[in-house]
Amino acid sequence: MIMEARKIRLLMTLRRSGITDTQVLGAIERVPREVFIPATFHDQAYEDMALPIGMGQTISQPMVVARMTQALEVTDRHKVLEIGTGSGYQAAVLAKLCRRLYTIERHKELLDIAVERLETLRVRNVTALAGDGTKGWPEQAPFERILVTAAHGGDEPPKALTDQLAVGGLLVIPMGDEKRKQRVVRYRRMDDGLEREDLWPVRFVPLLPDTQDGAQRMKASS
Ligand code: SAH
Repeated sequence: MIMEARKIRLLMTLRRSGITDTQVLGAIERVPREVFIPATFHDQAYEDMALPIGMGQTISQPMVVARMTQALEVTDRHKVLEIGTGSGYQAAVLAKLCRRLYTIERHKELLDIAVERLETLRVRNVTALAGDGTKGWPEQAPFERILVTAAHGGDEPPKALTDQLAVGGLLVIPMGDEKRKQRVVRYRRMDDGLEREDLWPVRFVPLLPDTQDGAQRMKASS
């Protein structure tokens, strides 16, 4: 089956599974997923599965990208922060929907490749940073939307992230440390605190604090 037919089949699967937001479907349709995965897996680019991208990390399953993006309710007026750039695929999808995307990845090697891909696709409204995303990006705050694409182990979301969320803004984040217990949670920042809504179960790689090693490596290569 040719790539385009596989893509249409995937879009139909997403629609049948509750992705009804036409903006989200349109963004997924316009981003070539094969650009974000290693050549050996190109055949599987439009299968609904997560795939390895190196450094022990994965590009998320299209269904998960679609659901998380739909839950984030992004418009072209929004400044959005993504934690966990990985392959850059989710970033490319968000960039189609928002005004400006800021994205942070702790593996500089992955970030550099992701940035290259976004440049190839002429995605121009993304600013990327190698570092610890749990600290957010204070210089660019507040954000109307924040999406975390790695699982956070604590009971509460990282304080830096909720502090950098605009009032009325949404944070979508997988929570839970054991894979079988992870859930996507959506927080809305209100005037007087956070409103929490549990969405659906997921399996994500963990959100890690920056290690000494990682920090040194980044310094060495900058
Ligand atoms: N959104 C990605 C998938 C991300 S996989 C995509 O579309 O391909 C999760 C990513 O989060 C991994 O690349 C991992 O290195 C990164 N990550 C984990 N902890 C992090 C942290 N504290 N700060 C920034 N990135 C982090």
